[in-house]
Amino acid sequence: MYDSHMHTPLCRHAAGTPAEYVQAAKKAGLKGIVMTDHSPMPPWFDADVRMSLEELPFYHAMLEKTRAQAGDFYVGIGLEADFHPGAESFVHKLVSAYPYDYIIGSVHYIGAWPFDNPEFAAEFEERDLREVYAEYFKLVTQAARTGLFHSIGHLDLPKKFGHVPAEGYLDLAEEALQVIAGEGLSLDVNTAGWRKKVGEIYPSKAVLARAFELEIPVVLGSDAHKPEEVGYRFQEAASVLKSVGYAEARVFREGRAERYSL
Ligand code: ZN
Ligand code: FE
Ligand code: FE
Repeated sequence: MYDSHMHTPLCRHAAGTPAEYVQAAKKAGLKGIVMTDHSPMPPWFDADVRMSLEELPFYHAMLEKTRAQAGDFYVGIGLEADFHPGAESFVHKLVSAYPYDYIIGSVHYIGAWPFDNPEFAAEFEERDLREVYAEYFKLVTQAARTGLFHSIGHLDLPKKFGHVPAEGYLDLAEEALQVIAGEGLSLDVNTAGWRKKVGEIYPSKAVLARAFELEIPVVLGSDAHKPEEVGYRFQEAASVLKSVGYAEARVFREGRAERYSL
């Protein structure tokens, strides 16, 4: 398996050198990794948790060196970019200016609210939960239509702290899933959810079952913010995927998907 979602200290909230992530991945028996640190964004957007545009050349150089030192072990160079209305042209310029292997598009904000930031989780109590998911999936649908991304990050992120509507949210995700399928995007199947209060993989098994029906490919990621998290619970992730029908996953190289069997 390949782990295609992990961070570097350049985002200011992750630890460990890329070489340590490579070591951890080898130890976990993985075939390769793709580094996808939080991308630079326009200066007005969430600057505290990402590298600046000025640091981006250092990110590339650091990972090119890691890749050269890793030999046959695959080290992809990617980004986790945010989808945020108004920032599309910035991201377009960014992803066009370097031959990235893989770009994840993630929605972390509903309007000005960073809903996955624990500091602002109290806002959930002020809102209608189904409406939160509806707004969130509307943004994901927009993200999928931009053509900027290879995959959508952690598709049901609003559940992070355990805020799941009693009626579920599969119906609210349907349009987003259809657009993801229609646009040929993959899903970031992200084991970090198992480290959060919700205690579930992103996306949930029910969403993955629907994604399989729609023939949406999957890309495994741990969302590691430290080397020990690389490959986190990948065997269980593979079991969940197989249980809903998936026999293979993908890894991206130079923007092209390669399949491997689970
Ligand atoms: Zn992060
Ligand atoms: Fe994220
Ligand atoms: Fe991430």
